[in-house]
Amino acid sequence: MGSSVLSETKTMLTLPGDAVRQIQWRYADRFDLQMLVQSARGVARGPVARMVAAGERNTHEWTPGKNEMLEAFDRAGITAIFMEPEEGGFIAGPKNLALSLAAFELAWVDGGAATASLAGFLALSPIHERGTAEQANHYMSLSAPPQPGEDRKPWRGAFVLTEPIPYVGVDTGMLSGKLRVAQWKDGEEPWLQVDKRGRFITNIAFANFVTAAVNSDDPRIKGSCVVILEETDEGTFDHGTPTKKLVHQLSSTGDPIFNLKVPASRIVGGYTVKDGVIVPNFNHGEIIEAVFRRTRVTVGLMTAAKLLSAIEPVIRYQRERFRGAEGARPGTVRYEQGIQQREDALHRLVDVWATGEAATSLGFATARLFDELDPIEKEKTAILKERGVQGGRAEMKALKESEQRAIELLSLEPNDPRRAELEADPLVQYVLRDAEGNVLCPATKLWNTGHGTNMLREAVSLMGGYGITEDCPGFLGNKWMDAQLEATYEGPEAVQRRQLTVTMTSEVFQAEFRSWTAEMRRIASEHPGTGACTLASAMQMWLWTLNHLQNATDPNGNKLYHGQRQGVTFALADALCWLLASRWQILDVLELAARGGDDPVASEGLEGTVQFLSDLCHTQAAQAAGEVSRICAELVFGYNEHPRWKDEGHSGCFLASELEEYEESMPGISAMAVDVLAENGSHPQKAGPCADCGRNGEFLRLQNKLTTCLSGSRLAKDRAAETVARVMIPEALDYPA
Ligand SMILES: Cc1cc2nc3c(=O)[nH]c(=O)nc-3n(C[C@H](O)[C@H](O)[C@H](O)COP(=O)(O)OP(=O)(O)OC[C@H]3O[C@@H](n4cnc5c(N)ncnc54)[C@H](O)[C@@H]3O)c2cc1C
Repeated sequence: MGSSVLSETKTMLTLPGDAVRQIQWRYADRFDLQMLVQSARGVARGPVARMVAAGERNTHEWTPGKNEMLEAFDRAGITAIFMEPEEGGFIAGPKNLALSLAAFELAWVDGGAATASLAGFLALSPIHERGTAEQANHYMSLSAPPQPGEDRKPWRGAFVLTEPIPYVGVDTGMLSGKLRVAQWKDGEEPWLQVDKRGRFITNIAFANFVTAAVNSDDPRIKGSCVVILEETDEGTFDHGTPTKKLVHQLSSTGDPIFNLKVPASRIVGGYTVKDGVIVPNFNHGEIIEAVFRRTRVTVGLMTAAKLLSAIEPVIRYQRERFRGAEGARPGTVRYEQGIQQREDALHRLVDVWATGEAATSLGFATARLFDELDPIEKEKTAILKERGVQGGRAEMKALKESEQRAIELLSLEPNDPRRAELEADPLVQYVLRDAEGNVLCPATKLWNTGHGTNMLREAVSLMGGYGITEDCPGFLGNKWMDAQLEATYEGPEAVQRRQLTVTMTSEVFQAEFRSWTAEMRRIASEHPGTGACTLASAMQMWLWTLNHLQNATDPNGNKLYHGQRQGVTFALADALCWLLASRWQILDVLELAARGGDDPVASEGLEGTVQFLSDLCHTQAAQAAGEVSRICAELVFGYNEHPRWKDEGHSGCFLASELEEYEESMPGISAMAVDVLAENGSHPQKAGPCADCGRNGEFLRLQNKLTTCLSGSRLAKDRAAETVARVMIPEALDYPA
């Protein structure tokens, strides 16, 4: 693989199928997940696609048709993904990858359908992550779909955090939802009065229960918590009016009002009573953090699915564009290739495709990471509990030593005997994956949905006018708008950037990042065609810039890398995401190259597929390098004052009279001098004397190198474009327009 000589390359003949994807996204040995993908696909490309085509998105109301979609989810097992087998589910163990695969399949056709399936899990997530065993068992079992022969409707839930302006949105710390003691008889369980209004709450039209974030408004309750509210509780459970959404119309959204009396046992995770005060075991912030950490990954994968789903319809449109016209007879280039005769149309589609590959690889890698993290996190909690350490600062302190051991592990040579000991330490494994997850989750949500939405606009534009009609095959116009919601809900881009700003500077993450950079160079030496070397150079530049900015100041002496200075920190967070997406894209192609040969289906035409996907990696790595270079250069130089003509001494400028003198000993110097001051003080018409590189010469060296690292990337794009023009696609899309 990886040859840059066109004549030697094999060409991909068909679109990558399930066998290829199962290897890349690492569920080739998970039959349960393969079955899940098939059943979710059946619902997506069957009833969901038919609903969209029939215009069911044209109403805000919750219709019988939309309700039938939920029943189709139940029948297909989608509602049961979240549950343990003993609660009515069918997947044992962590379920992040499973949930992501199902959401990916649904979002391939319609984002609202995917959201409708996920929102129920979001409602259960606080209970799953931090609820007591009784709470988890009770609500999971109620929400599981009925078994064959069982006459029962599953409970549906909603997650209620966001409140009417001016309260919770991005800033989840500001809550106006209130909790008071309604009644507390001696020796009995207290009853609580809950007062909460929600804004933009998914699933609310039909929710039987909600998990709501509230703050104490009573000295007898400490802090905040999440409470479970049921439709039949005493008081008001008003589902509210539907939100007039422009997007995701197959899910239900509305602004509910709750004023209810519930027993204190509804506090998620339980409580203790200390000196007559109810102290929830978890405050709402702790619960929400644990929930979003996992659920945001799935949202990122929804946008990734949309990008990849756009490829086939665009290819078909481009090829058939001129058929039927006079002069475009079968066999002519115009008839056979249509708009694909034109390089720009192909290159733009290659860009969409490469983005989709990168976003998907990043998303599934993050989902798998959380599957690995889930049991390790439980082990960590148990070990620390045994040592008498529980949560918060005490835990952070206790893990300090493990962090140093993790950093040491990353610095060891592959054959170092100490490796085995450190690798076997569960706390080391925990801090490594935790640091990685803290970065990968917001990166997936931010890059996939943010940049992904921009690229969906590109996909729509490739369909011309058709792209922005309801008739567009693949519903691309809907997907473009829907993607903007994915960039917004569960915390918009600012929230993800803010989190990255903190987590990407962790010592453990930085050590991991350095080891990944070295890994990319190693990969490049064996697989030069993947763009891994370009990526490694860009990674080196990013890390240099981060370290530089952490110590640099602006002309007023103010620190540049500072929480308040989002112009610096957010931009660096954006740059990092490009690198991460590109890295996982490359790793997935290597996995395919390594294992594809063992699979009877994937091995067919494997070389061509690997070549094409490598070319997409190379194209994407070059894009990532360009973004990183642009962002870093702006940050490194942009906060220096530009030299002015009136600056003392005009350092760096020549005087005209000086030049005449120098010309005698250095002929030709006048032609090189750009900043020349005349006798009368006049100067060239520009901002000032050119800035020199000051102390940042090292940056320019890195940038120079990065620029030459781009060698070959456009050849890869040309090759990919050639494949896009030739690859076979099915006669018709497998879901209706
Ligand atoms: C269809 C839909 C379904 C939803 N479902 C649910 C649900 O089921 N449950 C639920 O609880 N919520 C739900 N939400 C709410 C959603 O999570 C919020 O809308 C989202 O978190 C953004 O909050 P906001 O609308 O208040 O935006 P704002 O906070 O007003 O943000 C506006 C802009 O300002 C920026 N911004 C805000 N704060 C900062 C900052 N500190 N620094 C820099 N920039 C900042 C944001 O990035 C954004 O660009 C849903 C929303 C929609 C539209």
